[in-house]
Amino acid sequence: HHHHHAPRSFLRRFSLGATSIRAMTSHIVGYPRMGPKRELKFALESFWDGKTSADELKQVAANLRSAIWKQMADAGIQHIPSNTFSYYDQVLDTTAMLGAVPDRYSWKGGEIGFDVYFSMARGNASVPAMEMTKWFDTNYHFIVPELGPDVKFSYASHKAVDEYKEAKALGVNTVPVLVGPVSYLLLSKPAKGVEKSFSLLSLIDKILPVYKEVVTELKAAGATWIQFDEPTLVKDLDAHQLQAFDYAYAELESTLSGLDVLIETYFADVPAEAYKTLTSLKAVTAYGFDLVRGTKTLDLIKQGFPSGKLLFAGIVDGRNIWANNLEASLNTLQTLGDIVGKDKVVVSTSCSLLHTAVDLVNETKLDQEIKSWLAFAAQKIVEVNALARALSGQKDEAYFSSNAFALASRKSSPRVTNEAVQKAAATLKGSDHRRVTNVSSRLATQQKKLNLPILPTTTIGSFPQTADLRRVRREFKAKKISEEDYINFIKEEINNVVKIQEELDIDVLVHGEPERNDMVEYFGEQLSGFAFTANGWVQSYGSRCVKPPIIYGDVSRPKPMTVFWSSTAQSLTKRPMKGMLTGPVTILNWSFVRDDQPRFETCYQIALAIKDEVEDLEKAGITVIQIDEAALREGLPLRKSEEAFYLNWAVHSFRITNCGVQDTTQIHTHMCYSNFNDIIHSIIDMDADVITIENSRSDEKLLSVFREGVKYGAGIGPGVYDIHSPRIPPTEEIADRIKKMLAVLESNILWVNPDCGLKTRKYTEVKPALTNLVDAVKLIRNQL
Ligand code: GLN
Ligand code: ZN
Repeated sequence: HHHHHAPRSFLRRFSLGATSIRAMTSHIVGYPRMGPKRELKFALESFWDGKTSADELKQVAANLRSAIWKQMADAGIQHIPSNTFSYYDQVLDTTAMLGAVPDRYSWKGGEIGFDVYFSMARGNASVPAMEMTKWFDTNYHFIVPELGPDVKFSYASHKAVDEYKEAKALGVNTVPVLVGPVSYLLLSKPAKGVEKSFSLLSLIDKILPVYKEVVTELKAAGATWIQFDEPTLVKDLDAHQLQAFDYAYAELESTLSGLDVLIETYFADVPAEAYKTLTSLKAVTAYGFDLVRGTKTLDLIKQGFPSGKLLFAGIVDGRNIWANNLEASLNTLQTLGDIVGKDKVVVSTSCSLLHTAVDLVNETKLDQEIKSWLAFAAQKIVEVNALARALSGQKDEAYFSSNAFALASRKSSPRVTNEAVQKAAATLKGSDHRRVTNVSSRLATQQKKLNLPILPTTTIGSFPQTADLRRVRREFKAKKISEEDYINFIKEEINNVVKIQEELDIDVLVHGEPERNDMVEYFGEQLSGFAFTANGWVQSYGSRCVKPPIIYGDVSRPKPMTVFWSSTAQSLTKRPMKGMLTGPVTILNWSFVRDDQPRFETCYQIALAIKDEVEDLEKAGITVIQIDEAALREGLPLRKSEEAFYLNWAVHSFRITNCGVQDTTQIHTHMCYSNFNDIIHSIIDMDADVITIENSRSDEKLLSVFREGVKYGAGIGPGVYDIHSPRIPPTEEIADRIKKMLAVLESNILWVNPDCGLKTRKYTEVKPALTNLVDAVKLIRNQL
């Protein structure tokens, strides 16, 4: 109904809102880009495949942006963000804005176009992509800027200004959002070959001139607000790093004058020292805080808030899908209003809504009761506005009471509680679960049975997911094909994958995961306590999205989940076939979790369910079982002080899953990051027999930990081939990598494998890449 307003009508609505009641202000930190049905994903991928033109891609993007702005304006939001759209990633956009393109992408200057931009993001035929890493503790990934003393910064992408103007032309005066200069540098890494002593923050004087140009252009275009995202402020920063904020914003002060300036923080509270720094920045007129995860923010504000400045209160959770507790939020907002002044509080989201699902409206299959407990991005906008109105005395009683009714139904629902599960999980806390024999003797026992060559080769689990495969899964789900046809199709697929691996001469095989859409969804669908959405997609990186399950109740496993497929696959080969499971911590971290019990309790419940599965696989004769903990690290709290507690229950949960297996059963785990130097002792404490880890994009950061003398007795397979890029790694390059590893690790514990699963690649990429991988291993075996 409200989709056919002409731009003019929302211009009027917008100006009315802005001039009516000052206190009734509302703000959204950022918004999902993919679109309600992943329109951007499909447009990007068809452009990358050469099926559509750049103009077609740009048109899809422009339509998405205008729909979002219009939606927010229609909902009554007053501070509407722009430049939160991205073709790939907002940090990469900032790199483009600053012209900080690494030399290897042969950028010739001028405005950065799709060619250079997507080469940095994804690599191209001759150059690998830039490194990608997790965005704080989310499942979003950003492209890590590579900076050195010689980078020549220049204003090379006018995207922020263009998008501001584009919104303005549609009648929306937006708040342009930039990644703040200090966070940008703190999130960067020194380019290859740059001296260890090089300080990234020393580049501040070189990037600020570009920021000044951008701000000046935004002002000229009519901007009245600007938002700098400085989320690094929630981390443990030292005095020198904090000073960089003082310095940068003092430098920008004269350029910013005349603008309202918001510094936005999110994902945790701002530590006391950082709070002091932040609230004394003169150029700044407003501060955004995460009141959902920032449990101490309220106390900080009570201790002092600069008078005359605005408080953007992030009270609506951008990281979850639960309906807000409106009455409780209103109370908090009123308390804040009493401290800083009623007219100084702006109702906002805790962080960008990028990290939640897009629109509940498209969930036609979700049952009504569960649906009433939820709010996605589109609904959160309405919540923000309703809270802002209530705060200014225009409370929508009907809306608030239906919210209270939904919360009460969730609290008392028998679907949420399972007494037996609660009891079993309660006994786990404080106890220990370990395999009896130590890892070196287990490995010896396993080797007797497995009889693997030196430098055993394996892959991480998934093989390319073809269009046919996706179609068949979809048709089976929609009951358009029979179970029998489905099973035969998947069997055939597994058979092919097994044949390919045997032909390639890989040592430990996988079944390819053709029955899985997603490594978490697949398990969630078979466990109780989980709900699923049809379109609840969240961007993970680039065009890739995940659809996190919703854990709403106590978790249990009614029946085996993978045993049929794993034993089918094992029956097709004499080589060991890995059973393939997702670990409890990863299921937890990649789901939308309950907010009515601690995370560790939910994790222990999942661990017990996976333990049942591990033991059933073992009974079915599967001797190698991989339990992926791809997301263990990303659950790490942002503050050092909270790490030990998390790692303790997370690692314990993993051990619970496999503490009951025999010595002859080889437990693998896999992780999707290389940056684990700081948690190496927890990784060792997981006590897996073999760990495969992403490595190839990170310049052997990983190996340095072993170089420094950490003793690691278990098997380890640092990835030798970057699966995020279509590029095929040459044999020599892989051999080189293996040699470097052998310089640091004993040959009898080293495994050779790609970085991660192959599901996003094509067979035309995977076959030659794995051929080279096996060739490289054989080359080296001959030299050993
Ligand atoms: N076994 C999974 C796969 O290969 C692991 C994926 C992951 O680590 N993200 O797809
Ligand atoms: Zn992985």
